[in-house]
Amino acid sequence: MVVVTKFGGSSLSCATQFSKVKNIVLSDEKRKIVVVSALGKRDENDTKITDLLYILQAHLQYSVDYRDIWQMICERFIEIQRELGISYDIQQDLDELAQKLSKNISVDYLVSRGEYLTAKLMSSYLGYPFVDAKDLFVFSYSGILDEAETEPRIRRAFETYGTIVVPGFYGSYPNGEIHLFSRGGSDVSGSILAKALHASLYENWTDVSGIMAADPRIIPNPKSILEITYSELRELSYMGANVLHEETVFPVQHLNIPINLKNTNDPSHPGTLIQNECHDQSSVVTGLAGKKDFMSFNIYKQHMSNEVGFLRKALSVFEKFHISIEHIPSGIDCFSVVVLKSQVENCKYEIVTELKKSLESEVSLDSDLAVLSIVGRNMAHKIGLCGTIFQTLGKEKINIKLLAQGPSELSIIIGVSTADYERALIALYRDLIA
Ligand code: ASP
Repeated sequence: MVVVTKFGGSSLSCATQFSKVKNIVLSDEKRKIVVVSALGKRDENDTKITDLLYILQAHLQYSVDYRDIWQMICERFIEIQRELGISYDIQQDLDELAQKLSKNISVDYLVSRGEYLTAKLMSSYLGYPFVDAKDLFVFSYSGILDEAETEPRIRRAFETYGTIVVPGFYGSYPNGEIHLFSRGGSDVSGSILAKALHASLYENWTDVSGIMAADPRIIPNPKSILEITYSELRELSYMGANVLHEETVFPVQHLNIPINLKNTNDPSHPGTLIQNECHDQSSVVTGLAGKKDFMSFNIYKQHMSNEVGFLRKALSVFEKFHISIEHIPSGIDCFSVVVLKSQVENCKYEIVTELKKSLESEVSLDSDLAVLSIVGRNMAHKIGLCGTIFQTLGKEKINIKLLAQGPSELSIIIGVSTADYERALIALYRDLIA
């Protein structure tokens, strides 16, 4: 049985965090594949190595004196190496990199050195062989991961070494040049490794004990979610819960490899287990998420319901402007098209004009819309849940502007005025989850 274990930057920010990682890895011999991000922030005011490397690249590009920032980067690595007495000669690698620093250095190469050097340190510290991600993850020249090329390479490396440390976040083009995943992409590297090796588990270690049932910036100390399905996670993430890089789930979901989100600072906490099916029935609602900054185009026309093709004509206007639609709540002779404000910033008035022209209808805009999503696999067929929701919001004197539920009954979507958003979330958390 193989467990792929990925550590985020906050688990690798200093020598103390490195030693926690070592304890975690060595406490379970199934943890054979270790994936690391680059050194993260030591405290709120600190800067991640990845960000320092981007800043370094900007200095180089604009020929600004970069010595201080380079010094800061080197010190962060050297401090960990010295404090832990790691035998790997990082100074030599830093000197080699220093020789390559120039105006035209590839951004992807330079930024990937964060993960590269972190993995080399960790490999020496754990006594696990280092395998460079550039030799495993192969991208086509259009930047798409070539799975057919990548997966056998991963399997070969595992068969050769048995235990490995791999830097996350990058791979290479067929010509060997480094290419980065998008930000936060070490999560995806771990997921691809788990898929290629048919791992029994993909562990993702950060500094929080799994997914919270609501946004902790609004609800103090929300409960952690112990079990969640991939579909629930998608609903929560889509509606703003910031959990994993969004491409993390696809590789492992297909093989139903569970993802366990764990806390490096509290390893005995079970964290959150994400898998295709969960059997825990103890709560009806799994979590709440939401976003402000929606806008609705409200369309009215008498006897609209008798006009065949009306909705299609309206939607084709949005398609023409390449706008992705979030919800379409409808009445008899009216409906609204809900979209993210950011999508229509520059074209909302053109869309209104076009809708009026092609539909010969009245169109108004409502830009005061926040959307909340109540998510739970156990909500389907639960009689009275909407009653509770309405009562809760009614007692708070919050008006519901929009309401939607898809056929899977996995989530209930509620639109409220932006000013009511936080109050609605607090009240719903209190009555549905706490
Ligand atoms: N270090 C990279 C970032 O900060 C990748 C990662 O951490 O996953 O985005």
